[in-house]
Amino acid sequence: MGEICIICGKDTGAKWKICDDCIDRLNEKIHHPEPGICPICGKKVVHNGKKNNSKYCSPDCYNISIKVNQKIWHIEHRKHLPQDIVPRQTPKKRTVKRKSRLDENALKAREMGLSYGIYMARVRSGNA
Ligand SMILES: [Zn+2]
Ligand SMILES: [Zn+2]
Repeated sequence: MGEICIICGKDTGAKWKICDDCIDRLNEKIHHPEPGICPICGKKVVHNGKKNNSKYCSPDCYNISIKVNQKIWHIEHRKHLPQDIVPRQTPKKRTVKRKSRLDENALKAREMGLSYGIYMARVRSGNA
């Protein structure tokens, strides 16, 4: 049991206050309105002389149109959802290979201006 459709009084079967049938129908009318006719209730739009180019006859109908658009957005957005919820492949962090002990020694030897062999000999004799 959901909300009652504010347009036709049917149970919408959801938390929406407008049923899918009315959404379809109103969406069509909102996007292809007859000039001077409220796309929501079909009444003639009278603007009481006010400068107002709303295609809706009243704030109520305007609010309904917002709900319709929200629902349409929701439906269209949901269509794309299956792709969106696929977890993105996060590139695996490359584990940086630790420098081997040999490389470290070779580097130190170079820093000291020694050949690797001599440096290692010094390391071994405790002079490095
Ligand atoms: Zn309805
Ligand atoms: Zn209206």
